[in-house]
Amino acid sequence: MFHYESIKQYHADLIDGKVSCLSAVEHYLQRIHEQKRLNAYVRTYDDEARATARRLDQQRDSGKPMGKLHGVVISIKDVICYKDHPVSAASMILEDFISLYNATAVQRLLDEEAIIIGHTNCDEFAMGSSNENSFYGPTLNALDESRVPGGSSGGSAVSVQAGLCMVSLGSDTGGSVRQPADFCGIIGFKPSYGTISRYGLIAYASSFDQIGIFASNIPDVEKTLEVIAGPDAFDSTAYPLPLPDKKAEDRPLRIAYFRQAIDNTALDPEIRSGLYSLIDQLREQGHTVEAQDFEYLDYIVPTYYILTTAEASSNLSRFDGIRYGFRDVDKNLDLADLYKNTRSKGFGKEVKRRIMLGTFVLSAGYYDAYFTKAQQVRKLLVEQTNLIFNKFDVLLFPTSPFTAFKLNEKMADAVSMYMADIFTVFPNLTGIPAVSLPLFWHNNGLPYSVQIMTNRFCELSLLRLSHQWMEQFKEAGNEKPKPSTPASR
Ligand code: GLN
Repeated sequence: MFHYESIKQYHADLIDGKVSCLSAVEHYLQRIHEQKRLNAYVRTYDDEARATARRLDQQRDSGKPMGKLHGVVISIKDVICYKDHPVSAASMILEDFISLYNATAVQRLLDEEAIIIGHTNCDEFAMGSSNENSFYGPTLNALDESRVPGGSSGGSAVSVQAGLCMVSLGSDTGGSVRQPADFCGIIGFKPSYGTISRYGLIAYASSFDQIGIFASNIPDVEKTLEVIAGPDAFDSTAYPLPLPDKKAEDRPLRIAYFRQAIDNTALDPEIRSGLYSLIDQLREQGHTVEAQDFEYLDYIVPTYYILTTAEASSNLSRFDGIRYGFRDVDKNLDLADLYKNTRSKGFGKEVKRRIMLGTFVLSAGYYDAYFTKAQQVRKLLVEQTNLIFNKFDVLLFPTSPFTAFKLNEKMADAVSMYMADIFTVFPNLTGIPAVSLPLFWHNNGLPYSVQIMTNRFCELSLLRLSHQWMEQFKEAGNEKPKPSTPASR
């Protein structure tokens, strides 16, 4: 029986001949089939994955050196282009659309011999917090199938949570990697804006979007990041330099948290006390943990929704029935009606809501009141962030105000769904990296996480620290997670 620990362990087992890439692929394909009701994948590439695995096994047998991600079975969110494979952003409007090229991240995975096993389910055009806005229907949380896995990269999160692949790529515009990771009890990492090329990532809000990584352990995140990060001639917003890699300093850290975040009434009291107990433990270890006032918390969700919907209304104007995917050919339509009918039928409700909201905030007469104002708030947030990281090494946040909620619980109330993003949009507004670490179990039996952030482009330090925290709590915890205490994972 194939058992997965980490990329490192898998590679050691491959070298020892204990497993093969083909046995790994067969294992995952079988599990995906058995767990089909979770609806984590929208498409799998079975025969191709088997053929790649066989080729890699032969190469290894013939003594060829292994690529960094040799045989690593990876799923990708259905917004990431994989040449000659369908990609639909979980939308009817892109049904049957085939990628003409590889996303840079995908190309780099393939160059290092990863095996892409399929595309995962998500909210349509990555808009949502529950994976319920998908053309393919919702994904179910494997820990409790009456609950959502979070969104928008819900399928990617469940593909790792339920052992349906080793690592998954999602996208994070306002929390879409970290929040589903939190709901599913796994690790979700969003890099700094610019760390991973966006070439071949279907755009939602271009100045916020980043590809992110789901994994069950931090070294897997680091390895995947090492492969896919870096400058890219196809994306001028990709950071042109290697990430700074400062050696870990063995000194006490200066950690800040926003009082208005942790004491927020929207935060589940048990999550609050879990985070405070973590803060106590960090202090006991000699770190400084200080509460900071942050007056802008109430503005960050509105700012996020004004700016992202504005960008989305522009990005999604290309889906007009002429150039891509679905076209309404029912009647003899003139051009304007063809556009209108195609977009009315092809987009789902949430996407249309956001296109309208974005068009409104950009319209003459409202532009300054909404769009310009939101840009000003974003600038203020960046300045605040710089001030924070002048004084502190790490910023600590909750990931989500609550644990995974029930299917349909929030679908009728868009504002309450948007408030799910209250603790995740800050890093996207400011471009800093953030990771969600599943250290806790709630009394309701569901996992929850702490979210930590560092200054822009300091993700290597962030991941090193995350590894320490994951290890420390693993060592401190029991085999079986105890409710509301930092838990063994
Ligand atoms: N939940 C957020 C939204 O609905 C985040 C989406 C994302 O990060 N793609 O916009």
